[in-house]
Amino acid sequence: MPNKYLYTKNSNFLRFLDNLSADYRVFVPQETRKNYFWKEYKGSFQFSKYRTVTPIRQFFAPAIEHIDNYFSPDKSKEIKPFCIVGAKACDLGNALKMHDYVFLEGDIDASYKQMREKNLIISSDCTSFKETCFCLALGNMPYPETTFDLNISHIADGYFIEVGSKKGEETIASNKSLFEEAGSRMQTERENNRKRTVEEFRCQIEALEFPNENLLNGLIKNGHSDKLWAEEALRCVECGSCIMNCPTCHCFLLFDTKDKNGYFKGRIWDGCQYKNFTRVAGGASALRLREYRLRNRYIKKFEFFPERIKLYACTGCGRCVESCPAKIDIRKIFKTLNENSAKK
Ligand code: SF4
Ligand code: SF4
Repeated sequence: MPNKYLYTKNSNFLRFLDNLSADYRVFVPQETRKNYFWKEYKGSFQFSKYRTVTPIRQFFAPAIEHIDNYFSPDKSKEIKPFCIVGAKACDLGNALKMHDYVFLEGDIDASYKQMREKNLIISSDCTSFKETCFCLALGNMPYPETTFDLNISHIADGYFIEVGSKKGEETIASNKSLFEEAGSRMQTERENNRKRTVEEFRCQIEALEFPNENLLNGLIKNGHSDKLWAEEALRCVECGSCIMNCPTCHCFLLFDTKDKNGYFKGRIWDGCQYKNFTRVAGGASALRLREYRLRNRYIKKFEFFPERIKLYACTGCGRCVESCPAKIDIRKIFKTLNENSAKK
């Protein structure tokens, strides 16, 4: 069994990714104009300083898929599993736990289960942060603490590796010549790097005047009739970018359609910002107004899920802030709710 902490040189890490390519489709972050996007590994690896533009949920629950194959599996259609290298803490932790709760508790979703079991997650520490990041304000650290198979932290000339699961252990064991035991000096280097990032990040978080993380549930619960929902919703154009880019959102729509091979059942991502999300036969809709839909997203994330599974359905990744064309900003919504509640 490998040690929990290991070290590998840059060149050996590339060899490791080459070896993984035999069993997995390996995806790595690639920088384009200060943003990182997921690209298939082609022999080079760039350590990403912060999260990618899109979350990793696409690797576990694709945006669109045929699902009838799961009822009568056709082995010839089995997808090669993914290995995701460089996933950040805001895509793991609560985000994966949320998906596991939705798709694996009670009725098990066969597609998701298969992806979770087969895919390999190699996460990495953030060494910087975007203007929209606020994970720290929610009590989440900018480095992965759970739900990874292996975690890499960049240290001099190589990577400090933390083994996080049995699958991670087995992966290391079958590539053991590429790794060596990490000494205590290396671990100290990782801890110092993490501390430095957190300290720099804390300055950005303090300037936000974001309410204490423990108040968020109460602010939403007591703020259902706040005027801010109607004011903010005036600008929303229902593009759905906030829900499609969120690592914790998970709603979907089932549909029947046909292609050249005949009829099939499909599944596509859906979300509560869309007008027809709750429309039923006859045209009635529980979320008929845009302000109801905007508020619903916050109720679900900060009231429903904490009460159900004691987790906020938000990791503070800031993608909804970054991608909203109407500049609706979750951080400002909480700041305003907090101010309005103090005036009451
Ligand atoms: S609600 Fe926004 S900040 Fe929170 S996890 Fe979703 S996209 Fe990220
Ligand atoms: S990203 Fe902004 S404009 Fe688009 S649906 Fe979400 S809140 Fe509305």
